[in-house]
Parts: sequence; C-alpha cells; structure tokens
Amino acid sequence: MNFKKYKMPDSLGHFGQYGGMFVPETLIPALKELDKVYEESRQDPKFIRTFNGLMKDYVGRPTPLYFAERLTRYFGGAKVYLKREDLCHTGAHKINNSLGQALLAVRMGKKRVIAETGAGQHGVATATAAARFGLECVVYMGEVDMKRQALNVIRMQLLGTEVRPVYAGQKTLKEAVSAAIRDWVSSSRDSHYILGSALGPHPFPKIVRDFQSCIGREAREQILKKEKRLPDLLIACVGGGSNSIGLFHPFLADKRVKMLGVEAGGRGSRIGEHAARFAGGRLGILQGTRSYVLQDKNGQIALTHSVSAGLDYAAVGPEHSYLKDSGRVQYTKVSDKEALAAFKLLSEQEGIIPALESAHAVAGALKIVPKMRKNQLVVINISGRGDKDVEQAAKYLL
Ligand SMILES: *Cc1c(COP(=O)(O)O)cnc(C)c1O
Repeated sequence: MNFKKYKMPDSLGHFGQYGGMFVPETLIPALKELDKVYEESRQDPKFIRTFNGLMKDYVGRPTPLYFAERLTRYFGGAKVYLKREDLCHTGAHKINNSLGQALLAVRMGKKRVIAETGAGQHGVATATAAARFGLECVVYMGEVDMKRQALNVIRMQLLGTEVRPVYAGQKTLKEAVSAAIRDWVSSSRDSHYILGSALGPHPFPKIVRDFQSCIGREAREQILKKEKRLPDLLIACVGGGSNSIGLFHPFLADKRVKMLGVEAGGRGSRIGEHAARFAGGRLGILQGTRSYVLQDKNGQIALTHSVSAGLDYAAVGPEHSYLKDSGRVQYTKVSDKEALAAFKLLSEQEGIIPALESAHAVAGALKIVPKMRKNQLVVINISGRGDKDVEQAAKYLL
C-alpha cells in the first residue's frame, strides 16, 4: 500500500471495506448536506481562517510539544516528547472537533446542536462550543454516566446546555449515541448532530479526523524544528479513534514513522472484560458504520469494560480498521492496572496528571520505548488532563 497517494475515504465514505452510511433513510439528506457543506468549507479560505483563529485564541493552540526529560531517563530508551492536548481549553482534544462542527452548524443555518457523551468530555466541549456561538444545545448521557461524572453534568448545565438522561440498556455511551441519533432523525432540519469521535456514518469519520489533524500537523512542524527530523514512533490511545487519527494522519505518507494505537485491555481478555476491538472484535456494523466491533457469537453487541470511560466502546473508527489491516499502524492493548500505573508514573515523573485515556498511551510506551535506541524519537499524545479522573484513580492508587 502506497500511503503517498492515500486518499480516504471515497465519496461514499468507505475506507476499503470499512465505513459507509448505515442509517435510517430519513438521515441520508442531512448527511449529504453535511458532506457538501464540509467539502465547500474546507476549501474556503475564510472558513479556514475562522477555524484557525478559534484554535489559536480560544483553544490555546498550538499546544506544546514537550520534551519529557525525566520520563525519557526512566524509560532508558528513545527520547520522549509529549504532545500536550491536555492543555487545550476544556482539558482535552475534543474541543478541536466540537468547535469545527459548531462552525459547520452555523454555516448550515442550524440553530440547535445535539451530542452524546460518555464521561462527559465531549458533552462539555460541545456545550462550550454551543455557548460560544449562541446555539441551543442538548446532550444525551446515560444515567449511570451522569452519576459517575456528576461534575461534568454541572459544567454542561452552567454552560447553558440541557443534559438529557438516557435510561435504556447499560445506561452508558452506546445508549446515549442511539438517543442522539433518534433525536436527529426527527430534528435534522434545524439541528446538527456534533458526533464526538472518528466514528458513525460518513461523513463524520472524515470530518472529525480533519478537525483533529491539527494535532499531527503541529507535532510534525514542532519536532522538525526541535530535532531537525521526523519521529520514529507515534503513540496514542484509541477509543473511537479521534485523537490518534488526528496525530497519525499527517504522518501516514512518511514511511519511516511507525505508529502505535493503544486500546483498553480492561480487566481480562474474555468478552465483556475489555474494549480492545482489535483483540477480540470482528467485522460488524454499529451506529452507522462498518468496522471492527466487539460482539458475541450471535452478533449481539458485546458489553465492554475499561477503567477509562473514554475508551469504553464496542466499535472503533473505520479508518483505524483499514490502517490495521494494511499494516500501516500497529495496535496493542494495556490493562486497567497498567494504565493506572502509568497514570501515577507520569504524574510523579513529569508533574503532569493525564486523563486515564491518555495514561493508556503512556502504558503502551512503557512496553516498547525502553527497548528502543537512545537516538530514536517518540511522540506520545497526551489527549487530555486527569482532573476528571482523580477520584477514580485515588480509589485504586492511594
Ligand atoms: C474521549 C477521549 C478519548 C478517546 O476518544 P478518541 O476519539 O479515541 O480520541 C481519549 N482521551 C481523552 C482525554 C478523551 O476525552
């Protein structure tokens, strides 16, 4: 596969056999409108200027590429840089996508946005973007998650968003996505659905990837400036896959840059104990897209588990499935325990408390960076800060 000519997805949203638009007929016009408006916007210098201006003055971009001196010494292998998405406004990379999509909503003349949220990070980012643009905002959240992430519920409410509890099924992210899609089926004329990861029906995986690609473009420029060469390895955690694809995508054509995506290995390798789609999932369709999906013998969507809510989802973004099959990106998993140890490690070694999601990337690094040569370079994406996770981590660590 020649990644110099990589141009995915095709016009129908396929990444090879993955992706597509598996939605009720009534949503097709809204998805087509979104794709059309997005394709116009990405070529419109004014739109690009507005987006870049918001990234700079509102989000705080470019985020630093920080040389982690003590972590490097601790690993004893390659030189480690951290891409500091934890320093973005609202504390994670999600704001890049929420603001980009809010701009698209405004351009389409839509006055209302809806979103799903699990841990609440995407909900908070979307509530923030909605406040910034004066859009009405409704966020669907499983009742269980609302209890677990009470602080984020309050943040969204303070931002003027209505948080609607979802009582179906496991009462977590998957059910929240279904509720948001159901709302959109009846409201797409005046509402835009701001989907939170590189998932769902076309054109969402493409749009989310493109808005998140500022991560990789900046990292590329920053490492070239600091080291005069490209990194040997990129590492990021993979939930739906947006922070990782945002880092990886601008490097896909650089053959010598290796990439590692880290999934949630949870508490065991049996179905239901983890969220590692590439270690136990198979081809399936979930919530609008075809990808690797965790499912039981009968094709029922499996229950999942991770200590980190942001990685706890049964499907992975379709582009990752394509990149896995092509061999361009390697994927691994780390357990809850390993992630918690890495959470503590980064806090103590660098004074940076990462999100539990990002701690998975650090744990993935711990398995491979010590074996690398000292003259090699690694970039780890710190997708978010750990404030939301301190209570959870304290239960295990203190
Ligand atoms: C939501 C979230 C993730 C996982 O989502 P991706 O789309 O895979 O990036 C990772 N890190 C943080 C901090 C998050 O909030």
